[in-house]
Amino acid sequence: MPTRREEIASHLEEAEYPLTAQDICDILGLKKRSIVYEDIDHIARSVKRRGKQVIVSPARCGKCQFVFKKMKSAKAPTKCPKCRSEWIIAPGFLIREK
Ligand SMILES: [Zn+2]
Repeated sequence: MPTRREEIASHLEEAEYPLTAQDICDILGLKKRSIVYEDIDHIARSVKRRGKQVIVSPARCGKCQFVFKKMKSAKAPTKCPKCRSEWIIAPGFLIREK
């Protein structure tokens, strides 16, 4: 049996389009997106050793289109620093060869 992180990683490797944490929750039947964000942080470190990388399609503000470029972790922001809107389009993730 693969671990949850291995399962998430294989979905991200096979995906044609970036998957959001919510997509992954739906696929794996998980309840909390926060688990997925935490797992992706770990996956990002572990795939490096296999010559691969997690590609992040950054979160953005649904109101003013501000893009959250600098992300220290996979966790989604909750508020736009520019217009204070809480309408945030979630980041998407893929794993690809470097
Ligand atoms: Zn905004």
